[in-house]
Amino acid sequence: MSHKRTLVAIFAHPDDEAFGTGGTLTKYAQQGVEVHLVTATLGEAGQIANPAVAPTRPLSLIREQELRRACEKFGVTQLHLLGYVDGQTAMVPPAEAVLKLVRLLRRLKPQVVISFGPDGIYGHFDHLVIHRWASAAVELAANPERWPEAGPAHPVAKFYHRAISQTQLTAMSGANGRAAVDMGGVPFPFVGQPEEKITTRIDVRAQAQTKLAGLKCHISQLSPDALYLQPDFDPSATDWFRQETFILAQCNGVARPAQKEDDLFAGVA
Ligand SMILES: [Zn+2]
Repeated sequence: MSHKRTLVAIFAHPDDEAFGTGGTLTKYAQQGVEVHLVTATLGEAGQIANPAVAPTRPLSLIREQELRRACEKFGVTQLHLLGYVDGQTAMVPPAEAVLKLVRLLRRLKPQVVISFGPDGIYGHFDHLVIHRWASAAVELAANPERWPEAGPAHPVAKFYHRAISQTQLTAMSGANGRAAVDMGGVPFPFVGQPEEKITTRIDVRAQAQTKLAGLKCHISQLSPDALYLQPDFDPSATDWFRQETFILAQCNGVARPAQKEDDLFAGVA
């Protein structure tokens, strides 16, 4: 008999979950899937992009509150904060962070895990670190010889990388003219993955308004001229917004689909 379906998303900063997976998290939550979000830092190294947000409290508190509001919108069952410092995840002993994630995966027993791929979407150092932590945790959670005290081994059936497709990137760049993130004066361009590498496309048209509402919760990170904040922006009519794309990086006990999928749980018992 199949047991309850669980999805775990593992990201670095508040808002990492919103743009590329907000619709997907919402969609599965609506279907009764238990949805967990792991956020490694509180984004305290970022800037306040919106002058309307007064910095009356430490940025970490502002971002945490925004993240919690976004989680409510998306229907996230539980938010797990790892408590690391924004921009400094590379200084964390990897075994410490990976053990935390292994413990969590063995306790929650998700069939599906989502995290960054090796492109880190735009190569943010924390994204690359989280990619490595999540990949190691998925592998080690399934190995009964590793950290047996952290709970019984759990093989994750499907491990996905969040990805931007080249088509999506071209459309986004045309729409808002921003194809790179500025980090300390250095542009980090978004990485678009070729269509043939995209294995999974989730249609979130029905969740597009909720996704937008969740995105707007991260108001301190949104510049007032952000495209989503313009009154004429129609989220459910915009292809690059109403579709979320993934690369199936690893399967465990599930046949690798021969064709492109439209469901992260496809083939999961
Ligand atoms: Zn991030």
